[in-house]
This record gives sequence, structure tokens and C-alpha cells, in this order.
Amino acid sequence: MTDYSKFLKESNLTNGSWHAADSNSNIPVTNPATGEVIGSVPNCGTAETERAIQVAATAFKTYSRTDISYRVGLLRKLHDALMDNQEALAALLTAEQGKPLFEARGEIAIGAAYILWFAEEIRRAKGEIVPAPTNDRRLLVTHHPVGVVGAITPWNFPSSMLARKLGPALAAGCTVVAKPATATPYSALAWGVLALEVGFPDGVLNILTGSAREIGGAIMASPDVRKVTFTGSTEVGKTLIRQSADTVKKVSMELGGNAPFIVFEDAEIDAAVEGAMVSKYRNMGQTCVCTNRFYVHEKIHNEFVEKLLTATKALKIGDGAADGITQGPLIDMAAVEKVEAFISDSESKGGQIALGGKRHALGETFFEPTVITGANSDMDFATDEIFGPIAAVFKFETEDEAVAAANATEFGLAAYVYTRDVGRIFRLNDALDYGLIGFNSGLITTVEVPFGGLKESGLGNEGGSQGLQDYLETKYVCIAGI
Ligand code: NAP
Repeated sequence: MTDYSKFLKESNLTNGSWHAADSNSNIPVTNPATGEVIGSVPNCGTAETERAIQVAATAFKTYSRTDISYRVGLLRKLHDALMDNQEALAALLTAEQGKPLFEARGEIAIGAAYILWFAEEIRRAKGEIVPAPTNDRRLLVTHHPVGVVGAITPWNFPSSMLARKLGPALAAGCTVVAKPATATPYSALAWGVLALEVGFPDGVLNILTGSAREIGGAIMASPDVRKVTFTGSTEVGKTLIRQSADTVKKVSMELGGNAPFIVFEDAEIDAAVEGAMVSKYRNMGQTCVCTNRFYVHEKIHNEFVEKLLTATKALKIGDGAADGITQGPLIDMAAVEKVEAFISDSESKGGQIALGGKRHALGETFFEPTVITGANSDMDFATDEIFGPIAAVFKFETEDEAVAAANATEFGLAAYVYTRDVGRIFRLNDALDYGLIGFNSGLITTVEVPFGGLKESGLGNEGGSQGLQDYLETKYVCIAGI
């Protein structure tokens, strides 16, 4: 196992230095595969957060005025530092989060790619000169960093979710107060280690662990924090949106999903099964874009299910740090119990467990990848996010029926469709109420394009050129008397 001790930072970062909580109390962090405590992090609260915000506000005054070429240089170095330490960072990510090492390596790489992307995009963040209605004036549109950014991130992608926020914020000239999920703080603190190492000025990046309510509350209450960027559950996102009203902050919200995966009768079944496996079981089903509901045309239903079962049986479950493992543990016992509740609900409503359905013999939070057939719209997973390794298969007959069922949820993040019919691809692009749609692919995220949900899946986008705009204010400038 690669040595990650350099990144096991058991303190918090404010103004370029590392510190404990005021109370000196700590929160243990466990490895979900073994149940072992791998370390502990400070249990910070309101006072530490208020100080960090003041530091970030002071740093903003100078950092926001630095040359773009200077910031681009720092971001490039940050990208390189991340990739130079990819193995150690991936090992740490697997230790605290549980995902298999190959997925953790991929997460570090895409996080680095976001940093590089925004280093490039800031150089193209052009303003405008707008033709004026009269000759005596000139009209300009200019862009400016929004200010101090509060960034709150989840445990399922503890490194890359922060990268999608740090990249645009630091490129734009903003300073940041970040709060990672309590279950997985080390991958976020590692960003602090690297940011200092490559020379970001003190106070530009501050990272606090501890009470979500207190740290989140102080961020939301502060008039100095001009933007909050959150990735996490819809429930917490709604609370933050409400809290943002008092100081009228900009908000970006990357929230929950309930992705449909529709397989039409003309689909290439093997390709659909390959897409199904990655969109369902990546990170043990714990991604916001994971398939929640498979809608399979009745004519190919049995063939699809048979091949899905074969592929699912081939998954290798175990400690993500071991060679060849494709499925690690779930994050905690609450996640296991949530998955079990979905299974017993579906069984009580006529669902059949074709595979799995129970805790894995390995113990801890390992769960058997599960396939349920005979799913129907009364079952809880028809509307609620599973966030675990259950593949629920529904049958459909017509395109209209599949689209209506796919849209029958308050979520609108990712959707997947397998079909070779070009007309249908364009019809479904219009008809599906989703922010990300993968036709004939189960893995579509890439840095060059916007990532964001419709409906209750969120506000704003991360990635693409759109991902930078959320960190910039727009000013209209009228120069009269020419
Ligand atoms: P969560 O419970 O909403 O937590 C997310 C973050 O918010 C954590 O840092 C958490 O801190 C913090 N938090 C909790 N309550 C808070 C409060 N009252 N004020 C301020 N912060 C608070 O979500 P999660 O369980 O970590 O992540 C899973 C969810 O994230 C799923 O719904 C998934 O779909 C969504 N997600 C969405 C995207 C996307 O891009 N759309 C990507 C990844 C995940 P603590 O850990 O200390 O509680």
C-alpha cells in the first residue's frame, strides 16, 4: 500500500497555517472496509469559521487583483502536484471512502483535469463592448471575481467535488472557505497541503472540519461570503438556499439524482449492459448520476436481465485497497440500512430479488450487488434516490410510457438511453427533463462540458465554460461624454 501519511493531516487550514479546534476536540475518521480508525480531525465550529471567513475576506483584497498569468501558473502547478501524488492521494481516498483503488485514481485524475481546465478557461473569460444607441457613449460588460466562496462537499467524491469548486474559484480570483464531509475529510485537507506547497498565498484556501450546522451556519450567515457552492443531498441544499436569502448570496447547488436508464428494443444489448454496469455500480452505486431505475422494453427485457445478472455476478467485492476489487463497502451502516429498506419495500410490493438482496459475508458495510425485477411505480426507489448497489428493473411497452415514467420524479440530474434510432435520440433529448443525458453511454462526465441538474437536482453548473461564470460577477459600465 502506498504511503499516504504526508496527506493524513489531522488539523485545519486557516491563513496558511494548520491548527486544532478551539475546544481541542477531534472527530475520528474510519476506514469503511475495515472499521479501523485511521485518524481524527478537528471538531471546529462557529468561532473558527468566522475567523476563517475574515482571513479569506482579507486575502481576497489582494488575491483578486493578481495577474491572471500568476493564477494560471499556480493552478498548473497544483494540477502537476496532484498528478505527481496520484498514488498516495488515491490510497488515502480509498482508505477513508472505500471505493476501489482504480476508481480513486480516476477521481484524482479528473480532479486534476478540472484544475487545468479552469486555468485555461479563465484566459477566455472575455467581457464585451456593446454597440451604444448614441455615439457619445461606450458600453462595456466586464467580469469580476465574486468574492469569498463557501464550498461544502459530500463524502462520495471527496476529492473531485472540491476540485470542481476550487478550480473556478481560484482561477477567477476568489478566496475559499471549504467544509468537507465529516466521513471523508482527508482528501479535502490534502488539497490544502498541496495548495501551500505550490505557493498559493496565505488565506486564499481555508479548510475546516467539524460541525456541519455550525460551520455551514457561519458561512451562510456571513455577509462577507458572496457565494456558496454546495454538493450534497437535496434536503440540505434546500436548507442552504433558504439560509442564503438573508444575505442574498449567489448559490450553486449540485444535489441528488434518480437517474433513469432506458433500453429500447433496437438497442445493442451488450453495449447497454456494459453501460448499465458502470452507471449502476460505480462507487457501489453511491454517485449522484448512478442509475436508479432501469426501464427495459418488454421485447428485450429477459435478454437484458440475463446479461445484467451475468455481469453483476462477476463483480469482485472486498477492501478497495486490494487488487482486482470492483466493489468496496458502503460508506456506513445507515447506508446499509437504507438499501435494506428499499429491498424490503420492493419485495412487499411484488418485486423479485434476482440476485443479492442481503449484507455480504465479508461483514462491515459490504453489501451484495442486487438485481430486482418486476419493479413498479409504487416502490420507493421509483421516486427516491437509492445511493447503493440495487439495480431495479421496470418493463415498458411504448416510448411515451418510458419517457413519462422517467420524468415522474422531482429529480432531474442524469438520464441514460440506449437506442440506435437517431430520430428517437432527438425526441428524447427534448422530452427528458434531465440536465445530463447519455445516449449509448453510461459514463459521460468530462471537464469540458457543464454538469448540473434540473428541477430539484440543483442550480447552476460545474465544468465547461458555464462552471466559471458562477464565480464571476458581471458589471455593466457606461462611459458617457466621449
Ligand atoms: P449531505 O448529507 O447533504 O452532506 C453534504 C455536505 O453537507 C457534507 O459536508 C455535510 O457535512 C454538509 N451538511 C450537512 N448538513 C448541513 C447543514 N445543515 N448545513 C451545512 N452543511 C451541511 O450529502 P452526502 O450524504 O454527503 O452526499 C450524498 C448526496 O450528495 C446524494 O444525494 C448525492 O446525489 C449528492 N451528490 C450530488 C452531486 C451532484 O453533482 N449533483 C455529486 C455528488 C453527490 P457532514 O458530513 O458533516 O454532515
